[in-house]
Amino acid sequence: MRIGFGSDIHRLIPGRKLILGGITVDSPVGPEAHSDGDVLVHAVIDALLGAAALGDIGELFPPEETRWKDADSCELLTRVIRLVEEAGFMIINLDATIHLERPRLRPYKEKIVRNLAKTLGISADTVSIKAKTGEQVGPVGRSEAVQADAAVLLGTPEPDIWV
Ligand code: MG
Repeated sequence: MRIGFGSDIHRLIPGRKLILGGITVDSPVGPEAHSDGDVLVHAVIDALLGAAALGDIGELFPPEETRWKDADSCELLTRVIRLVEEAGFMIINLDATIHLERPRLRPYKEKIVRNLAKTLGISADTVSIKAKTGEQVGPVGRSEAVQADAAVLLGTPEPDIWV
């Protein structure tokens, strides 16, 4: 088994869509980013790459390359899952935390879990998404940023012990 950790933060600015785990959240501000700025998916990507020791998101999808401009992060995640599977791993579970002052994410959490589970090709009961505010301190608490942390566990498909 292999564990991986990923983290991401983006500055929040007016007039950008706020997308978390592929789900659009109703918000007057969104991430300043080259891609769609989905911090949750970016953290999950880095956790997967980290567990498989395959580098990081910036190496795979350099922001200076125009083909990743406004990229759908869930599509990037699909590419990364393929790499992880090609390296011989399967995803056992995902646990993540989103740090956002507002809006409260409770109404979105189930949708995010379902979308991530579908994209990752794993059961929704192995995906956990938690949400925290910044308690009005720091960049998250002042609504200047949205942040996400993710941990994933990878395993190798079970050997057939009965042969
Ligand atoms: Mg990012």
